[in-house]
Amino acid sequence: MRASAAELRASGRRLALIPTLGALHAGHVSLIRLARARGDAVIVSVFVNPLQFGANEDFAKYPRNAAADAALCEREGADVFFAPATEEMFPKHFSTAVTEDRVSKPLCGVSRPVLFKGVLTCWLKLLNVVQPHALVMGEKDFQQVAVVRKALADLALPVEIVTAPTVRDADGLAISARNAYLTPNQRDEALAVHQALMRAREMVDAGVRSADRVVAEATHIMAAKRRLRVIYIAVVNRETMEPMREVVPGVSLMAVAFWVDEIRLTDNIPL
Ligand code: AMP
Repeated sequence: MRASAAELRASGRRLALIPTLGALHAGHVSLIRLARARGDAVIVSVFVNPLQFGANEDFAKYPRNAAADAALCEREGADVFFAPATEEMFPKHFSTAVTEDRVSKPLCGVSRPVLFKGVLTCWLKLLNVVQPHALVMGEKDFQQVAVVRKALADLALPVEIVTAPTVRDADGLAISARNAYLTPNQRDEALAVHQALMRAREMVDAGVRSADRVVAEATHIMAAKRRLRVIYIAVVNRETMEPMREVVPGVSLMAVAFWVDEIRLTDNIPL
């Protein structure tokens, strides 16, 4: 990977790294296309990072399809498909970690305490190997963007952060590899989350500024679904992830994590 990156750099290209867990879908494709549209040489990493999964999470059953992922990257014109082995990334006695202690704490940090530490440790290693000019991420994982932005700024890593909006299916469901776990009924219920977020946005567009009111309305819409369990729903500052009592358009974000039966999904909408 280092040799390929050096070669691309030597040819005068700017490098964009897109870290993923694989099972590539239209959301990932949008990141590849964005990086290509910038003229960057595109490196897609596919690595189901064991550090970011908690003990009771879906590491073992997370969808893996390296051949299809590689074919998709080739089709989309990515320059390098990088799928390191687990033992190569995190050999047995690996004993170093990167943590960020503020932006990581609320929201997903509460229910998935190892998530961001795992992401940061893995991504810092990927960044050190590839040494890209840009790191491309999806707003689907808004807290991940905020955490990585903060950690890279704190550690003075010279990497441009590029983000792309959430890609949704035609019915509005945010595309995620975990959607593959959903039965048609479960999928139907998950759609209420998008409806709730859209309703929140509508209220803000109509002038409502009370975060409580917007959250209450969105919660009401999701409560109509028998299989949905809300883990958190909050109006937060997009950069710090701190709760906001008043919605400030352009600054606030509504973020939600939920269970559909035993499947954990997240979604968000800028307000
Ligand atoms: P993942 O493979 O889920 O870790 O995602 C890898 C990258 O793709 C992350 O930066 C995600 O935010 C981004 N991503 C995942 N799903 C979507 C989506 N539906 N729309 C846009 N970006 C996405």
